[in-house]
Amino acid sequence: MRMPVLFVGHGSPMNAIEENAYTRKLGEMTKSLPTPKAVCVVSAHWVTTGSHVLTAERPRTIHDFYGFPKPLYDVQYPAPGAPVEAKRLAFEHHLLADHDWGFDHGTWSVLRHLYPGADIPVFQLSLDHGRTFTEHVALGRELLHLRDRGVLILGSGNLVHNLHQINWQMPDSAYSWAEEFDAKVKHAIEERDLQTLAAPDHWGETLLANAHPTLEHYAPLLYCLGCTDAQDHVTFPYEGIMFGTISMRMACFRPAPQ
Ligand code: ZN
Repeated sequence: MRMPVLFVGHGSPMNAIEENAYTRKLGEMTKSLPTPKAVCVVSAHWVTTGSHVLTAERPRTIHDFYGFPKPLYDVQYPAPGAPVEAKRLAFEHHLLADHDWGFDHGTWSVLRHLYPGADIPVFQLSLDHGRTFTEHVALGRELLHLRDRGVLILGSGNLVHNLHQINWQMPDSAYSWAEEFDAKVKHAIEERDLQTLAAPDHWGETLLANAHPTLEHYAPLLYCLGCTDAQDHVTFPYEGIMFGTISMRMACFRPAPQ
């Protein structure tokens, strides 16, 4: 059976230890998903030169943020790695096996709610900063066969992500440009408009610069799109923009029922 693909907006690391509508939705989603043999995460928080695959047997939990409360630094996500699957991916696609990385918070802050038992093996694929958007989609295409081997592909980023303009007075509302970008991306996903999604500057320099001053939180979506096809049906299990500038939209791609 072909596994679904998820894109999750992860937002603040505090979501890892908070309970709110977003984290409850993550917990609920697991019930409607087939249990994967492993999860392959493409996280905004692992940017490298060249594409790396996490091959560690027991990946460490990385607390890659500063100035948060101690309970967040106490969190461990002790899921096993998936070294056989990871090494196979690295070998077959000439990617770099990496034993040193662990689970960054783009991974564990989400998986803690999806698979709280930490009993599903997990590995990560990094974002190679040297790739163009089209090349990210192309590498995503090479993940398609993993879905047929029982691997859930999880992209973890945010469809709008601007920390410079964050407004703490707007916990549940959005700047108009954030709403505009989020809606345009949603529409392009529904239309499977890869040409637009892989060239977002097509939407205008100002809009893109506002939505993504840097592009690492957008790029995981390109992997999700690469490893889906026209047979997949997309739903958006959660949406909403926080603090003016952070889209928490999730997208779930799964084969349409026959
Ligand atoms: Zn992030």
